[in-house]
Amino acid sequence: MTDRSTTVSREPPRFEYERPTCDALGVNDTAKLDREAIHARYRAERDKRLRPDGNEQYLEVTGEFARFVQDPYVERVEREPLHDEVEFAFVGGGFAGLVTGAALARAGFTDVRIIEKGGDFGGTWYWNRYPGAQCDTAAFVYLPLLEETGHMPSEKYTHAPEILEHCQRIGRHFGLYDNAVFSTEVTDIEWDGDTARWIIRTDRGDEMRARFVAMGIGPLHRPKLPGIPGIATFEGHTFHTTRWDYAYTGGDPAGAPMTELGDKRVAIIGTGATAVQCIPHLARDSQELFVFQRTPSSIDVRNNHPIDPEWFRTLEPGWQKEWMTNFTTLQTGGFADEDLVKDGWTDISQRIRDRVLADAGDFSPAAMQKAYHDSDDEKMEEIRARVEQIVDDPATAEALKPWYRQLCKRPCFHDEYLDAYNRPNTHLIDTDGKGVEAITPRGVVVAGVEYEVDCIIFASGFEVGTEWTRRAGFDVTGRNGLTLSEHWRDGMRSLHGLQVHGFPNAFVVSPAQGANLISNIPHNLVEAAETIAAILTHAEENGAREVEASAEAEQAWVDLLLAGRRRFGGAADCTPGYYNNEGQPEGRAAIDGLGYPGGPVAYFDYIAEWRNDGLFEGVEFR
Ligand code: NDP
Repeated sequence: MTDRSTTVSREPPRFEYERPTCDALGVNDTAKLDREAIHARYRAERDKRLRPDGNEQYLEVTGEFARFVQDPYVERVEREPLHDEVEFAFVGGGFAGLVTGAALARAGFTDVRIIEKGGDFGGTWYWNRYPGAQCDTAAFVYLPLLEETGHMPSEKYTHAPEILEHCQRIGRHFGLYDNAVFSTEVTDIEWDGDTARWIIRTDRGDEMRARFVAMGIGPLHRPKLPGIPGIATFEGHTFHTTRWDYAYTGGDPAGAPMTELGDKRVAIIGTGATAVQCIPHLARDSQELFVFQRTPSSIDVRNNHPIDPEWFRTLEPGWQKEWMTNFTTLQTGGFADEDLVKDGWTDISQRIRDRVLADAGDFSPAAMQKAYHDSDDEKMEEIRARVEQIVDDPATAEALKPWYRQLCKRPCFHDEYLDAYNRPNTHLIDTDGKGVEAITPRGVVVAGVEYEVDCIIFASGFEVGTEWTRRAGFDVTGRNGLTLSEHWRDGMRSLHGLQVHGFPNAFVVSPAQGANLISNIPHNLVEAAETIAAILTHAEENGAREVEASAEAEQAWVDLLLAGRRRFGGAADCTPGYYNNEGQPEGRAAIDGLGYPGGPVAYFDYIAEWRNDGLFEGVEFR
């Protein structure tokens, strides 16, 4: 057994990505792969997991499950309700709110209030403090505003405490703490046409008014629970990974030993990106760990390393924008002279490109499709070979092999996860795609066997594809009493993913219906923030009281997206998961997940031109 859990490799001083090859992993000539057999296995594994209830299989964290979303990190302090007015209110204190606040401050708008239900800024990085939490996208492109705040990430993939600190740094740097309200949940937002102001009500009894409002609730914000029979009957301790209970486990987000688990039998349900990061820590510290798996994640090489300050000082001003664009270009199949980030994300698309080039440069859709399939077959074969190479027990290794295309589910990158299964206290309980059968007062049941445990940790993910207002926790009433839930009943409708007809002076900040760049969410947000700042500046210069997307422009944008059919997520033939709305990728989820037909780079080019040409076509300034 190797004992490398929770350590960070200290070797390469610079960004090096060694592409794992089939050869190095002992996979023989990939030309001889039995692709038919592999694809047949993919179909069989998908079919095994398809279920008619799709996304309905999950439980909402309301009623008896509401405790799963309580804030374990701060004490709620009572305060007087606010009945005041600000120029710009932003709902959500994660990266969306922070980068928008920063862009507005730079454009001279300082009367900005961020309203956040957590006790501080950070959004997903405020809530997700589970041990081992770390960004999966290189910090140089993932952490926004590095140049502006002067921060050097300590490692290529920074851990959660540093990301939370960076959020706080942005808040301080741009003066966003001065007017922020925390531990405050918005309950509804209503347009008052007479005064052209938004009225924002909260669970604190606030009734704030704002000239402009924006909402950045995060794409994966509301935790969900698996609908396992008996889930409410368990008599031991339970929590969801997004509200890690250190009071129960001991330890801290920096990875200190969870000393309270030394005499505990611990169950974790789920093996997605979150579980992959925290399982090495649980394996290290629990007396016994039982990992309940429905579908294994694909685990590629992480190769983390510290950043060399001397090298960092050589970066020229403007470097971060260049790096972000370079990453997005390469990650989405484009060309660049150099791969600055060099990691598993950019590797995926460059392999396809290299293959097309080797194939006489035939960039027809059919050739691209074939190149994608061939390189994906090889990549997944390498990933399966890596499992076999690391995991000692052959049956466990077999169960940890993913049988689907890499982008059917969120790709994971980790260098200690697979090792964890070599510990004698760590048991993989594979459910063969069926999921956990039942939860009893004493434990978890799979294939008729009850595993008695003291604690169940739900690593069961977040709501995706449910109604926006359900995920947000509030509705918005726009002009003439139109609510956002009605307007979006059949799916999201927007101009640029940012403005909605019927909702003047309001903005939605998310990747959806814009670039839809999933590998680096902050890139979407930084661009949206700049667009909002440009719109506000134009409104100011023209004395406009109201700014609204026209009905025609909204319809034209939705038509453009529908015609392009470029959407986030795995295809219908993928094994189910939130990437393909649990195997039912049509309907509202498909519309919500649409992105600009030309792809993220084309969208960023388009929107930069749109906000800079001074015309603001499609938006009415009144
Ligand atoms: P996921 O939705 O990816 O994973 C949920 C897990 O629960 C899956 O393994 C799922 O299995 C399993 N599950 C659901 N129901 C059952 C059941 N009835 N029985 C057994 N297992 C069940 O959630 P995560 O929190 O892991 O990740 C969500 C997303 O958050 C990631 O995809 C990523 O985008 C983001 N994230 C980003 C990170 C980063 O950048 N650092 C780190 C962690 C997360 P199945 O696959 O079969 O559905």
